[in-house]
Amino acid sequence: MRRWLALAALAASSASAADYSGPLFDAHLHYNEEAFNGSEGPHPLPDVLGRMKRNGVRAIIANSRPNDGTKSLAQSPETRQAGVTVVPFVRLYRNRADYTNWFRDETIYEMVQAELARGTAAGPYRGLGEFHLYDSANANGPVARKLMALAEEKDLAVLAHVDDTAIDLLMAHTPSKGAKARLIWAHTGIGGAPVARVDQLMAKYPRLVGELSYRPGLTCEGGRLCPEWRQLLLKYPTRFVVGSDTWINQRWQYYDDTMKGYRTWLGELPPDVARRIAWDNGASLFGLKPP
Ligand SMILES: [Zn+2]
Repeated sequence: MRRWLALAALAASSASAADYSGPLFDAHLHYNEEAFNGSEGPHPLPDVLGRMKRNGVRAIIANSRPNDGTKSLAQSPETRQAGVTVVPFVRLYRNRADYTNWFRDETIYEMVQAELARGTAAGPYRGLGEFHLYDSANANGPVARKLMALAEEKDLAVLAHVDDTAIDLLMAHTPSKGAKARLIWAHTGIGGAPVARVDQLMAKYPRLVGELSYRPGLTCEGGRLCPEWRQLLLKYPTRFVVGSDTWINQRWQYYDDTMKGYRTWLGELPPDVARRIAWDNGASLFGLKPP
């Protein structure tokens, strides 16, 4: 009876666990043209920085179509005033047509080289992406191969929205065959690769990191973590990050809700694990200091 009471008390305390309240690293942020549209758009710089600030987002992986959005975040004194560190990535898309052709388009490779040479006001680019592969076989496209090799040579991270098959294909194109590749798996497989398969890939590639926006099966009733995902996060506490994926303006409108949702389920984890997923894992990928 006493044991039952203790268990009941434990369940009650975890049900009312406080939300995570520390800093957040938004590891999947886009500031696309339609968000600001010169300064006529619905989300000019002060608006998006205000959203980050009030949600305790202290660093972001910025990547934007075209790269101008990232550059304006990187160079604005308002970004520093908001206490937000920008980790710039080269987006592979100049326009929407590039989504379905980048992996074989040499002009994309040239654009990436030019951007890397130029850098941003916040320092050199630290990664490539986000890119998409709607057909995993396109991971074998000539430009996809070259970019994966380039990323590893220059120790750039890669943010890839791909399925689990493409993870293996992309890793195979790096000089280390994936042993050293810093690949951030956007959504950790938006198609919902089974947890066992995610586990297998995490074990196989020591620097693979799972980003958790839109991940099917992650949360269950009431926005709480589903049991098998909770187990996976506890098994690899240094390997997951969270992101907003502001790919359309609507995602900016709901930015507060997205971050609130993360804080809710992060609060169900042991505090050190929550802090890692929320901040430390992203920060240590790029050598950021604690905020
Ligand atoms: Zn995205």
